Amino acid sequence: MVEIFNYINGEHLKSTSNESMDVINPSTGEVYAQVANSNSTDVDNAYAAANAAFEGWSNTSITERSRILIRIADLIESQLDTLAMAESVDNGKPLWLAKKVDIPRASSNFRFFGNAITQFASESHSNPNSINYTVRSPLGVVACISPWNLPLYLFTWKIAPALAAGNTVIAKPSEVTPMTAYLLTKICDEAGLPKGVLNVIHGQGHRSGDAISNHKGIKAISFTGSTKVGAHIASIAAPKFKKLSLELGGKNPNIIFADCDYDKMLKVTVNSSFANQGQICLCGSRILVERKLYDKFRSDFVVKVKHLKVGNPLAEDTKVGALVSKAHFEKVQSYIELAKEEGGKILCGGNVVKPEGLENGYYIEPTVIVDLPYNCRTNTEEIFGPVVTITPFDTEEEAIQMANCTDYGLSCTLWTTDLNKTQRVSKNVDVGIVWVNTWLNRDLRTPFGGVKNSGVGREGGFEALKFFTEPKNICIEF
Ligand code: NAD
Repeated sequence: MVEIFNYINGEHLKSTSNESMDVINPSTGEVYAQVANSNSTDVDNAYAAANAAFEGWSNTSITERSRILIRIADLIESQLDTLAMAESVDNGKPLWLAKKVDIPRASSNFRFFGNAITQFASESHSNPNSINYTVRSPLGVVACISPWNLPLYLFTWKIAPALAAGNTVIAKPSEVTPMTAYLLTKICDEAGLPKGVLNVIHGQGHRSGDAISNHKGIKAISFTGSTKVGAHIASIAAPKFKKLSLELGGKNPNIIFADCDYDKMLKVTVNSSFANQGQICLCGSRILVERKLYDKFRSDFVVKVKHLKVGNPLAEDTKVGALVSKAHFEKVQSYIELAKEEGGKILCGGNVVKPEGLENGYYIEPTVIVDLPYNCRTNTEEIFGPVVTITPFDTEEEAIQMANCTDYGLSCTLWTTDLNKTQRVSKNVDVGIVWVNTWLNRDLRTPFGGVKNSGVGREGGFEALKFFTEPKNICIEF
């Protein structure tokens, strides 16, 4: 049985509680590893290490910090196969997807911020008799807390800018998918990251996570996860005046107008609905279709969805792997039942799948539901699984109203070839990210994040480096 340890001051350690938790391979439903279940003493120890390392790391030259981050990127790239396999076993996602997206992106995150820090500058404002210049300093010890859906991808998306900016870090991956965070600590050792600069604490959110939120020395928390936990963290951390970046849930509309490039839209919509088993915060789970295209889209979409092979994540032709955990599998099933109770008609899918030899894994057919009111619970609450609804609309105004009817506001996908319509709809949808005639087309320099219950703050590019630094303005009169 593999054992996953904390990483404190460059050492791999059990929790001081001596407790560990099962880690389950969702494709089989079997326990395959044990992970440390940390407590507040472990967080205190991680803080002591990070605090002691801060002076050295924050005074390390930009060139040297950049060199180490880019070395980590290179090592991730060179271990692509091992890391992708670990991610697939831990999370249930297709192996090809981890190889194509998750692990390359984890490497890009370190490479991007290793380079970005060499270009990061602060402002100066001059007057005839004075000059103001702004110094941006690292904050100190910061925390990064990440979810299970894109484990290494999102873990590194936070850690890389925090380290690049000169902070030392306490990072907590999801207890559901801790493996690649553990493997990353070995890569950091190999890359020569000084001891204590990155510390990784494993375990349950309400134990080690709460200890992080409550820790008086931690200056900032960058959190990605559910809206419920984000609100909880904010309630603890805000009165302690910690800086907070919250990337939370979504219920994203995919608005399809009749004047779109139909073939491209159809192909991308299958992907934006079911990639990673629908467990991407940016998946378009509410498909809104202009009525004159509605019947054609329904039938063409269902034909394509029925072709998606569900099964063993390690098989090359698998398009939909296992859901991440039994609890999540049951949650998604409960939403399919709710959709039926709310009057929805299941056009395809809706059933549990039991692939041969993997009968205890957590598989659900990609599911397409119609005939639901646009503002019912199925259409407004985050399901975060392979489930989408299709709803017709008649006018642009109606599409915008439907798009904005949830408490969430992360992203929106828009399909039209009309430039003016693109401008109007993009301006009026309450989201942080709009994709027009594309989906998940990411440029790491752009601000990433949501509005309403989808979060506070932006990640990406210089936004992230600004979050992880504190500006101090200095005014000199002469
Ligand atoms: P979650 O909120 O349950 O857990 C996220 C992380 O927070 C985990 O590491 C967990 O251990 C930790 N945590 C849990 N309770 C905590 C507490 N009391 N204090 C501190 N930390 C605590 O989310 P999840 O189920 O792992 O992930 C799915 C959610 O993440 C979905 O809602 C999804 O939309 C969201 N998500 C958002 C984005 C984005 O960029 N906006 C990206 C990916 C996922």
